[in-house]
Amino acid sequence: MVANNDSDQPKVGKEKLDVLESTQTVIHEALDKLGYPGEVYELLKEPIRMFTVRIPIKMDDGSIKIFTGYRAQHNDAVGPTKGGVRFHPNVTETEVKALSIWMSLKAGIVDLPYGGGKGGIICDPREMSFSELEKLSRGYVRAISQIVGPTKDIPAPDVFTNSQIMAWMLDEYSRIREFDSPGFITGKPVVLGGSHGRESATAKGVTICIREAAKKRGIEMNGARVVVQGFGNAGSFLAKFMHDAGAKVVGISDAYGALHDPEGLDIDYLLDRRDSFGTVTKLFKNTITNKELLELDCDILVPAAIENQITEENADKVKAGIVVEAANGPTTLGATKILTERGILLVPDVLASSGGVTVSYFEWVQNNQGYYWTEQEVEDRLEKVLVNAFNSVYTTSENRKVNMRLAAYMVGVRKMAEASRFRGWI
Ligand code: GLU
Repeated sequence: MVANNDSDQPKVGKEKLDVLESTQTVIHEALDKLGYPGEVYELLKEPIRMFTVRIPIKMDDGSIKIFTGYRAQHNDAVGPTKGGVRFHPNVTETEVKALSIWMSLKAGIVDLPYGGGKGGIICDPREMSFSELEKLSRGYVRAISQIVGPTKDIPAPDVFTNSQIMAWMLDEYSRIREFDSPGFITGKPVVLGGSHGRESATAKGVTICIREAAKKRGIEMNGARVVVQGFGNAGSFLAKFMHDAGAKVVGISDAYGALHDPEGLDIDYLLDRRDSFGTVTKLFKNTITNKELLELDCDILVPAAIENQITEENADKVKAGIVVEAANGPTTLGATKILTERGILLVPDVLASSGGVTVSYFEWVQNNQGYYWTEQEVEDRLEKVLVNAFNSVYTTSENRKVNMRLAAYMVGVRKMAEASRFRGWI
């Protein structure tokens, strides 16, 4: 996934863009609607554990650099915490906390036996060599080895991390523990116990949500005009799946700009030319900005990059009838309100992007039982889980007359609130 240039960020007025504060606001609302007392909110508004680690690395030029990393464990009442590790220069403690809460919500929505966790390291992997990245990945695991594990907290890939990084982390963890422990981490290469279908799982989940949302709105996927912001893991696979489903992908973007063709872009060509960080637009002269991309004429808009892309400033310019959030936190609360008032169907991140953690769960189950599934089995199970999750959020939204984000939070928060209560914590 990709970050936007600062100049490309939508201009914001008074609106608050603190992702932790926004998610706390919606959790509060969801718990109120469900009738839970104030202590439940007090428990769930922050992670139960938050670690900061400092990782010294000898760089290729001989210098020593100290990297800062985080691991947040939001709530482990339901089961071990679970969630990715992001390598990005803009990682902050607050962002990692919010991301861990979102993981709890995702696990609740797709009904996994997990709570949410999340990690991040402040670094720019685009500027680092392979060996520096390996040292950083191993150093991070050494720093957090006491608090993670297959029955404690299970990391996975996120922005700018991939199966190679998971492999180094697994190897380091197994060395420390002195036994092979594939269930410690998910998103591994298949030869190390990874699951078939994990790499494309987030995009598969988004595709299922798009299809279900399109049905609700009577939009035919064949010929539908789709815009995808971001060409990383989620965005690139998604563009391909949309293209294969007969939709016309009329816009895509990366951190540096966007491409637009009302007749549909040649997705196979773009996939062929993208680098491992999802950069592709640099190869073209005729580009538009990320800001313009979000305002393109289309039926379905999929923000699949980073936070705070659709804000109060540009929400009234969105032309799509359906917005499906493949990224974490791409739409602010102000923008959610505007899109909802305009009758746009917004499928929130905690539902739409839950395909990744769902297949991570399948990977962990396969590791625990030592018996591996075919890609078709993984896909069939993912399909069932996501269709159920979509329908329960959609039905909650209709029955309780709330927008899809609040409905998703209501569905997602309930299990951990109940589990915390049964354990006698609240
Ligand atoms: N990083 C992904 C997410 O934000 C996947 C997490 C996982 O597989 O545990 O949902």
